[in-house]
Amino acid sequence: GREWHLVSRPQGWPVPGDFALREGPVAAPGEGQILVRNLHLSVDPYMRGRMNDVKSYVPPFQLDEPMTGGAVGIVVASKAEGFAPGDHVLHDLGWREYATPKAKHVTKISAELAPLTTYLGVLGMPGLTAYAGLLEVASMKKGDAVFVSGAAGAVGSEVGQIAKLKGASRVIGSAGSDEKVRVLTEEYGFDAAFNYKSGPVAEQLKEAAPSGIDVYFDNVGGEHLEAAIGRLNVHGRAAICGMIAQYNATEPPAAPRNLAMVIGKRLRLQGLLVMDHQDLMPQFFEEVSGWVRSGELKYRETVVEGVEHTLDAFLGLLKGDNTGKMIVTLAD
Ligand code: NDP
Repeated sequence: GREWHLVSRPQGWPVPGDFALREGPVAAPGEGQILVRNLHLSVDPYMRGRMNDVKSYVPPFQLDEPMTGGAVGIVVASKAEGFAPGDHVLHDLGWREYATPKAKHVTKISAELAPLTTYLGVLGMPGLTAYAGLLEVASMKKGDAVFVSGAAGAVGSEVGQIAKLKGASRVIGSAGSDEKVRVLTEEYGFDAAFNYKSGPVAEQLKEAAPSGIDVYFDNVGGEHLEAAIGRLNVHGRAAICGMIAQYNATEPPAAPRNLAMVIGKRLRLQGLLVMDHQDLMPQFFEEVSGWVRSGELKYRETVVEGVEHTLDAFLGLLKGDNTGKMIVTLAD
C-alpha cells in the first residue's frame, strides 16, 4: 500500500518536495492488531505543526516514516477480539492506504448511524472541538453575541450553528471568500458574515457587531484576535482554538497589540485542546447527530479523490480551498 512520508521539514509554506508517496508493506496483523483498508483520510491544520521539529502537545512527524492522522477504514483481517472483517473503524493511522493499528487505539463506527466521513468532521474531532470550545471553554450562554473566525471551515461552521441552536443573540462569522460568506448567512443561519480579505477585520467586525461581542471563538489569531479583543464586551470570553494565520509564518505575528484591554474589560482568553474534552464525546455525539438528522445543523465536506492527492488536499486546506471538512476519499 502507498503511504506518505515527510522527507524534509518545511520552512514556511510546505512544498511538494518536502513529502514523498512511497510503497509500504501491508503487514498481516499481529496479536491484538487489525489490518484496515482506509476509505477516507483526514487532513487537518494541526498537522502543519507536526512537520516542525519542536516539542508540542503532539510529537513531530519523523522524517522518512509514514505520517499519521485521522482515518476511517474497513477491517480486512483481525487478530483482536471484538473486530471482524467488514467492520468500520476510526483510527489514527491515516496518510496511507493500509494500516495495522492496535485494536485498543481503534474506535468501531457505524455506517448506518451516520455517513462514514462525518466521523472525521461534523461528528468527529472538529465537531467536538467546536462543541467543547464554545460551551465549556468559552462558557457561551443564551443571549451572548458570538463571533467565530474561520467560520466556513469544519470547526467554525459548527461553532456558529451550535451557538445559534443554543440561543445566541447574534452570530457573526468571517471567512476568506464572498461565496463562503454567502453560505454562512444564507445556508447556515449566521446573522452576519464578512470576507476578511476585503478590508480591515476590525472595521468589518464593528459593522457586523454594533453592540460588541460576548464570545470569540478564535481559529485564526493575529489581526482577527486583535479585532475581537477590541470588540469584546466586559467579561467577554474567548476560546483560543487555532491560529492558522501564523502556521506557515517565519516571523512572530505583530498582532494582537491591544492585549492590555484584557484588564479593563476583565476578559478571559483560554486555550483549548480537544483531547481534554473526550469525556464530552457521548453527549456531543447524541446532541449534534440529532441536529444533523433533523437538518437543524448543516455541514459540507470538500472531498478530494485518491491517496496520491492527499498532499494537494492538505496544501489546499491551508489556502482555504475547502468549505467545511477537507476529506480525502480513496478510490476502490
Ligand atoms: P478548516 O476547515 O477551518 O480549514 C482551515 C481554514 O483556515 C481554511 O479553509 C481557510 O479558510 C482558513 N485560513 C487559512 N489561512 C488563513 C488566514 N491567514 N487567515 C484566516 N483564515 C485562514 O480547519 P479546521 O476546522 O480543521 O480547523 C480550524 C482551526 O481550529 C485551525 O486553526 C485548527 O488548528 C484549529 N483546531 C484546534 C483544535 C484544538 O484542539 N485546539 C482541534 C481542531 C482544530 P478561508 O478561506 O476562510 O481563509
